[in-house]
Amino acid sequence: MAYQTIYPYTNEVLKSYNNATDAELEEVLTTSAALYHQWRQEPAATRKPILHKIASALREHKAELAKIMTQDMGKLIGESEGEVDLCADIADYYADQAENFLQPVPLDTAAGKAYYVKQATGVLVAVEPWNFPLYQIVRVFAPNFMVGNPMILKDASICPTSAKAFADLVLEAGAPAGSLTNLFISYDQVEKAIADPRVSGVALTGSERGGSSVAAAAGKYLKKSTMELGGNDAFVILDDADWDLVKEITPQARLYNAGQVCTSSKRFIVLEQDYDKFIVILKEAFAAVKPGDPLDPATTLAPLSSAKAKVKVQSQIDQAIAGGATLVYGNETVDLPGQFIQPTILTDIKKDNPAYNTEIFGPVAQVYKVANEAEAIALANDSSYGLGSSVISSNPEHAQKVAEQIEAGMTFVNAYWMSLPELPFGGVKNSGYGRELSALGFNAFVNEHLVINAAEK
Ligand code: NAP
Repeated sequence: MAYQTIYPYTNEVLKSYNNATDAELEEVLTTSAALYHQWRQEPAATRKPILHKIASALREHKAELAKIMTQDMGKLIGESEGEVDLCADIADYYADQAENFLQPVPLDTAAGKAYYVKQATGVLVAVEPWNFPLYQIVRVFAPNFMVGNPMILKDASICPTSAKAFADLVLEAGAPAGSLTNLFISYDQVEKAIADPRVSGVALTGSERGGSSVAAAAGKYLKKSTMELGGNDAFVILDDADWDLVKEITPQARLYNAGQVCTSSKRFIVLEQDYDKFIVILKEAFAAVKPGDPLDPATTLAPLSSAKAKVKVQSQIDQAIAGGATLVYGNETVDLPGQFIQPTILTDIKKDNPAYNTEIFGPVAQVYKVANEAEAIALANDSSYGLGSSVISSNPEHAQKVAEQIEAGMTFVNAYWMSLPELPFGGVKNSGYGRELSALGFNAFVNEHLVINAAEK
């Protein structure tokens, strides 16, 4: 597997890296395990100023880090800058909240004085994707740094420069060696690390295919795991929707990060009476994009992350159309050298169409027409995924009632997807299990260690 930065706008290879050897992996396991034992003796408060320093360093180096991310995987430079800010906020959040989250929890029992403490469990392996090159790492790193779980990172092979830059920044901010080690390792070496007794768990964000392989290894070696996988999120517009809001949020719901967000709205579910109106809004939004160099702030449509990603999305569009979908807009060649897909609208997708139950990771909107709300909810739930979803309604009670009927880990009412440090993130069904961010993400790899004194009642 080649770890390379290939700028998806010019297709130029900007950087190549050598793969790590087994000896290097062994050395990192040893350093990380030693750090785990050291951290067991130190309170989280000792790590708090370092994590705040990491947050400050992220803000200080925002321009440089944003450029690295854009060159790795092509996202718009403004989106890269926003991602750096979010990472800094996540780091500050966990630095500030950790001592509170780590408070012992008293237990009400007649058997004695009982409580549990939350303790570190050991070295973690984090396997992360390319679509948010820094944020995906920080979501796992920041809470576990405070818990005291050192982390070995295997990042996507197409964004090695981002992974290296963040790992360097962590060390420069004063974190001890082993806190976060980026390694350019193979799938076999990932499994080798998971099998190692010094490793206590694995967090993966990525596709079902990657998740299933890594979860299988975690199961085989009895390691705790969290899986943040793909989605086919529904965007349900109810009969009392505010259409100014629909118009405002629809473009970003599908086009942010060129549509390569696990929680992008991928299926727009619209009532019969509103269908034509919605198609006009979507077409106008998709026609308004300006493809170009993602480093140019005037560009509004970025290329996809790689040649491979473009081939996959194109073949999914072709298969959807061959399977009976109507092409309402898009699917024309973008006359630029980069890996562009023109924003595309597909309708008339029936249950037997390959697109019906697939994640299309690019700027492709599927629009479904339904007769009533019950049909809308049933359609939203007729998916093997259950990550995010949106419900649009100007009546809060109505919106909440519908939101709670959707089988998903997250529902955003009157908004497209969002992610903030204090909000739990994750899914159900084939979208994975476990949560990142918030207090739930903090607890993902802690040992809830029960202590009970039977003599003290
Ligand atoms: P991917 O192909 O599964 O890759 C994700 C990571 O897993 C990469 O580091 C990849 O390494 C590694 N990997 C894949 N198979 C592996 C194996 N058998 N053993 C060890 N490592 C393995 O997914 P992707 O295409 O990069 O990412 C896009 C997917 O991520 C989409 O489905 C998206 O919805 C999902 N996603 C989910 C969330 C969430 O929070 N739920 C957030 C963001 C993205 P290589 O790069 O070297 O192949």
